[in-house]
Amino acid sequence: MHLYLRNMPSEPNINFENLKVAFASKSDAELHKMKFVFSMLNNKFVSDLGIALTKIGFALHLPIKGIMKQTMFGHFCGGETIAESTEAAKKLAEFGVESTLDYSVEGEGDEASFDLTCAEILKTIEKAEYQTSLPFSVFKVTGLGDYQVMINVQAGKVLSSEEALAFDNLKNRVNKLCNAAFQKGIKILVDAEESWFQDVIDAMAYESMEKYNRDSCIVYNTYQMYRHEMLERLKSANEVAKSKGYLLGAKLVRGAYMEKETDRAEEMGYENPIQPNKAATDRDYNLGVEYCIKNGICLVSGSHNEKSNHLVVDLIKKHGIDKASDRVYFAQLYGMSDNISFNLAKSGYKVLKYVPYGPVEKVMPYLIRRASENSSVAGQSSREYEMIKKEVERRKKERLMSDAG
Ligand SMILES: Cc1cc2nc3c(=O)[nH]c(=O)nc-3n(C[C@H](O)[C@H](O)[C@H](O)COP(=O)(O)OP(=O)(O)OC[C@H]3O[C@@H](n4cnc5c(N)ncnc54)[C@H](O)[C@@H]3O)c2cc1C
Repeated sequence: MHLYLRNMPSEPNINFENLKVAFASKSDAELHKMKFVFSMLNNKFVSDLGIALTKIGFALHLPIKGIMKQTMFGHFCGGETIAESTEAAKKLAEFGVESTLDYSVEGEGDEASFDLTCAEILKTIEKAEYQTSLPFSVFKVTGLGDYQVMINVQAGKVLSSEEALAFDNLKNRVNKLCNAAFQKGIKILVDAEESWFQDVIDAMAYESMEKYNRDSCIVYNTYQMYRHEMLERLKSANEVAKSKGYLLGAKLVRGAYMEKETDRAEEMGYENPIQPNKAATDRDYNLGVEYCIKNGICLVSGSHNEKSNHLVVDLIKKHGIDKASDRVYFAQLYGMSDNISFNLAKSGYKVLKYVPYGPVEKVMPYLIRRASENSSVAGQSSREYEMIKKEVERRKKERLMSDAG
């Protein structure tokens, strides 16, 4: 037995360039649609113009929903409802990719809309109970309560009685979701947001972990490694979890609000919480995933960065972690980096896609974030675009060969 294992060829490295695997779930028509979407995003002028026209279109109630569903929305979202996005998740599951249904509608600022969002996320948890391909649920705290109240709490201000009530409501909603996830045996991700109220989100996440992460990882907090003190915060969160006897669930990301963070710090004259450069963010992201894997932390590695994904694969192998267990999940956004998600899943790793959904007009802020992320100079649309073009060519050649043969 031992001899057999020693002589076994080591598993080849995962090839994220395997486009046949990456796009196996896409028909030719879908691939051409993707090519069109990324060709638009690839051009910053066209992309900015598209965003502006879409905003005007919705404001004037023009019938642009159909166009959106055929383009940006259709590409980056699973659908408008839980039923539609569950179908998208089922399609991913055929290729070994699991999903979390992400209700991507931002709260409209009043208690009634926060209640509605909470009720909708509860439905995603209920749905997940019966679908093995939906092991996680997810929420953003700003969808569940007034962020101004969180800002005041973090700033140490005394809350008015109305604010105190709003804060209690928020905490109750967070607990309701974490408790439902615990009861149904579903994991739940708490997304990270802006630093000026993130401490409040962290506190709620840790309180929930203390209640529900005794025997297994149910609640996961998010760590934005673009913040220069985040690696230390991750380590101390683990020390606290150990001392209090619960398991730490950690989703690591680089972080989505860099410009906003820098602008506010400059404007208000405090130290910028963001790392001095991209290399420092990359270094801490990689040290962070290594720390989690070495220290038995339940990890969700949320990244489209190929080097970081390769590193996590190497660490899983090095530390003898069962890749089919739920200890380490790779996670990407729906419609992005399929070459990473599908190739990892094909090699037996646990992969999670965030599948955003919601009414087209209400998911616009999410879509605008994706558009600007993809069309920024450092964005990845040109890489996605090149891959799609290559796959279109590969399929063409494959067809010619089979016709000739
Ligand atoms: C599954 C999933 C869940 C996510 N959840 C969250 C969340 O809860 N909260 C959140 O904020 N984001 C979240 N994100 C978004 C995530 O933060 C961005 O996708 C991510 O920043 C892009 O980084 P990357 O790891 O894919 O790789 P890359 O493309 O290699 O990195 C780009 C990132 O590096 C950082 N960076 C770029 N330039 C600099 C610089 N000059 N100095 C310092 N840092 C720099 C920025 O964070 C930038 O976004 C999530 C992403 C995924 C895939």
